[in-house]
Amino acid sequence: MAVTVTGYGGVGEIGGNKFLLEDGETRLFLDFGTAFGRQQRFFNEYLRPRAARGLLDLLALGLIPPLEGLYRDDLVFAGLWRRFSGGRHYRALRRDDGRPAVDAVFISHAHLDHNGDLSYLDANVPIYSTRVTAFIARAMQVSGASSFERELIYTNPRRPSKSGELQADTKANYRLRPWAFLDGELGEEGRAFWERSCASRKQLDCPPQHPGRLESVTFRWWPVDHSVPGAAAFAFETAAGWLAYSGDIRFHGQQGQLTETLAKELARLQPRVLLCEGTHLGSDVPVTEQQVIDNALPLVRQAAGRLVVADFGPRNVERLQSFLALAQATGRRLLVSTKDIYLLEAMSLADPVAFAAPCSLPELGLYSDPKAALRPWEEELRRRWAGRTSSPEDVSRSPGDYILCFSLWDANDLLDLEGVEGGIYLYSNSRAYDEEQAVDLQRLRNWVHHMQLTLYGDPDDASAVPLHASGHAPGPALLQFVREVRPQVLVPIHTEDPSWWEVQLAGTGIEVAIPQMGRPIALA
Ligand SMILES: [Zn+2]
Repeated sequence: MAVTVTGYGGVGEIGGNKFLLEDGETRLFLDFGTAFGRQQRFFNEYLRPRAARGLLDLLALGLIPPLEGLYRDDLVFAGLWRRFSGGRHYRALRRDDGRPAVDAVFISHAHLDHNGDLSYLDANVPIYSTRVTAFIARAMQVSGASSFERELIYTNPRRPSKSGELQADTKANYRLRPWAFLDGELGEEGRAFWERSCASRKQLDCPPQHPGRLESVTFRWWPVDHSVPGAAAFAFETAAGWLAYSGDIRFHGQQGQLTETLAKELARLQPRVLLCEGTHLGSDVPVTEQQVIDNALPLVRQAAGRLVVADFGPRNVERLQSFLALAQATGRRLLVSTKDIYLLEAMSLADPVAFAAPCSLPELGLYSDPKAALRPWEEELRRRWAGRTSSPEDVSRSPGDYILCFSLWDANDLLDLEGVEGGIYLYSNSRAYDEEQAVDLQRLRNWVHHMQLTLYGDPDDASAVPLHASGHAPGPALLQFVREVRPQVLVPIHTEDPSWWEVQLAGTGIEVAIPQMGRPIALA
């Protein structure tokens, strides 16, 4: 039986992972992410794909692969596929027997470069992930801007208007995707959140939520260390042997031992193939999460009586936990947004054993930034957190009592504060990877300077004390990982430098198969 793996994203690029594994009749996608690098060549914050034209813009620009039958029918207008059938990478995947074009999509973790294009996927395809990965995506959809690009968990069905544009169907309910949780069943409250929460008061239709056992393939999964909780790696038993998929991994976070266990367990499977990420092949010794805490602690201590602002990624919960620890050590309260609390609550509903309910964390508080209008979920959350809320006036009165979690996107809110000059701004993010990010970083410096705060952790300042630990293992750690797993074939993914592996693995007996976009790699 033919076994192939085909890369439709994450091939020679960082993120946008979409790998189609085919074993006889069985078809699985490993991740279904957005290729931000390619997307940014055409779009920015204001110039977006047009929802009224469904999949047209994305297909025409090569941002999603032309695989007919794989996507939501309600995003396809009459005649759309005529433009793409027969074109580069085109394939008709639709099955005659009414089953979805693929049997399942496995999502490794809740970063958009791994799950973002689920929005366009046929809503009948079962998705497999950990509970936390699913619930983080759910929180992102509910608390984020509503857009057809972010219908990760439930879809807002569209239908053509008289003139042919695709419009949201006001009569149709939202539709929940069938989701299988790898790490066990939801509790009662978790189930209620999963089946009810949505962004507006529209109803939610729930198809059977137990897609059942994936009969056609045996697979295993492991939790791994990455910069978002709930991350996983997978392995599938094919007719050609085991195929393993790393997702995004590191060894230097607080859960590094998970990835070490993964290496041992994968080695035992003696895999035929390993698809391994390579985001930071060029870096050497990583900054650990513990070093971030150790570096930030004296800065927060020295800022006694003054405001501390902490700037880190929105779903970097480990960093949030690090700043909670810093708040505890320095007797401050960590103020976060409604979105942050909503995310933490969702994680705790997904897995109450691993994640404490945010209301049980005494150092955590809600910052009530002035807003013209609150959405229903925000109103409800603010009501519940009323006793733990701090206003701009509270912070202005006593800035030394707080660590305020802000980023460039909240910069205007700094203007509500008075008497915070002399405070510190801890930039706890990665360096700028493109021009747009570099411009944003300069904007941030301007804001910090304007507010008379002192910036720490500036990634462009070589002498700055590092305040960020990457989500990705550096080259030497990945090399050690691959040598330990010892696959027959290594497929480099999620990297701009796949040939690095050929050099490093020369003479080890591990063959390197560099994937090409849309071209199947035959395994048997
Ligand atoms: Zn990634």
